[in-house]
Amino acid sequence: KPIVVIVIGMAGSGKTTLMHRLVAHVQTARKRGYVLNLDPAVTSLPYTANIDIRDTVNYKNVMKEYHLGPNGGILTSLNLFATKFDEVVNLVERREGELDYVLVDTPGQIEIFTWSASGSIITEAFASTFPTVVCYVVDTPRSLSPVTFMSNMLYACGILYKTRLPLLLAFNKVDVAQHQFALEWMDDFEAFQAAVENDSSYSSGLSRSLCLVLDEFYRNLRNVGVSAVTGVGMVDFFAKLDESGTEYMQTYWVELERRR
Ligand code: GDP
Ligand code: MG
Repeated sequence: KPIVVIVIGMAGSGKTTLMHRLVAHVQTARKRGYVLNLDPAVTSLPYTANIDIRDTVNYKNVMKEYHLGPNGGILTSLNLFATKFDEVVNLVERREGELDYVLVDTPGQIEIFTWSASGSIITEAFASTFPTVVCYVVDTPRSLSPVTFMSNMLYACGILYKTRLPLLLAFNKVDVAQHQFALEWMDDFEAFQAAVENDSSYSSGLSRSLCLVLDEFYRNLRNVGVSAVTGVGMVDFFAKLDESGTEYMQTYWVELERRR
């Protein structure tokens, strides 16, 4: 069975650029990929998608028809698409013997996918059929301050507990800022707490508890530093992805079979 990778992250973190890089890597590694774009509002894609939400729903028409703003238009388009998602899964299922990876790009604004019914429907449709991994893309240069880093990690933490799927943190844009600081903070709870407490804009009482939550969270995930622009880290990315796929089969799949 192919491994499904759902690429999630804050707007501008580099999801679409990373997708392009992943698609290119899959091709040069002579693996077989299947590519989905779920962002109805993207104007041009740097990669070729096998399934593109824009072929099914026109989000500008959806905005007009339902009298919505841009975010409402994107959300409603995704809802419309989610109602037919079993067809998408069937399509992938029919080709599963010929595929190694299914790569999924999501809308720019993270909450449209992570905190909507359609995002859950799509995630669960994949996760009940294929080993499925969430790739959480972090904008590394924008996470250099401890408080921003903590907010970003808490968001990822919420996604881990909501989806209950293996999570791969991809520290993107390492061509601009190395992710060494993040590795140190994730590795050393006290170093991170000291950094947060030095930031006077944050309540230190709250930060102590949050640091503890995150310390537990870090033990439940894999991470990798990448640059979607230069291609650094791709081999490591796919190695961690394969490990996450194995984790899925050993835990989530076993649990699903037990409930079936
Ligand atoms: P998305 O909204 O998450 O899909 O983000 P995009 O892929 O559209 O990227 C947002 C911006 O970040 C674009 O200007 C990209 O060129 C830039 N970007 C993405 N990945 C990298 C990277 O690895 N390094 C650098 N320097 N810029 C990047
Ligand atoms: Mg995008």
